[in-house]
Amino acid sequence: MSTIIEVGKHELPKLAYSYDALEPYIDAKTMELHHSKHHQAYVNGLNEAEIALAEARSAGNFKTIGALERALAFHGSGHANHKLFWNAMAPKDKAKPAPEGTLLAQVNRDFGSLDQFKAQFNAASIAVEGNGWGVLAYHPAFNRLYTLGVMNHQNLSVLGAVPLLLLDVWEHAYYLNYQNRRADYVSNWWNVVNWANAEERFASALKLGG
Ligand code: MN
Repeated sequence: MSTIIEVGKHELPKLAYSYDALEPYIDAKTMELHHSKHHQAYVNGLNEAEIALAEARSAGNFKTIGALERALAFHGSGHANHKLFWNAMAPKDKAKPAPEGTLLAQVNRDFGSLDQFKAQFNAASIAVEGNGWGVLAYHPAFNRLYTLGVMNHQNLSVLGAVPLLLLDVWEHAYYLNYQNRRADYVSNWWNVVNWANAEERFASALKLGG
């Protein structure tokens, strides 16, 4: 967490599993393109935005600041979201299939039950208009879990909410295998969700306080 990344030096993170490890729920070709091409493009975009902002700053010329901040928000969120998305998953035989402990208690309190949470999360993910993300987030200031239906990588989110679980519902995430059947992709995705990662992120988010 405390690693210092120099301006414009973000790198594509390595996956903790092979491209075919999430089959049959997510196919190897989709994983390869998604990670090596799509995610790489967001890393590149973030680097370009950071460098352009540094150049604007040193030139004292902020004429294009609106476009630069837009690029930063889009590509920065794209990079961050994908990193969390890969970490939220694991091969089915290694993935923790349900939350326990404090996270399960919070899910039960805020959604009624794990099943009710999943139904809401699935509905939010399916309802995203165009490209976006289904998100489970914890807001430390409110001590509450929310589902979010994020458009693109960053719109319709709540600042300060810490994402615990992200599902990429851009077509590039599922179209080769599922075509237009986003709902099938969403329900199959739960087979490779690793709740151990969400539990770790929740434990960290709890320490933020309000
Ligand atoms: Mn994606």
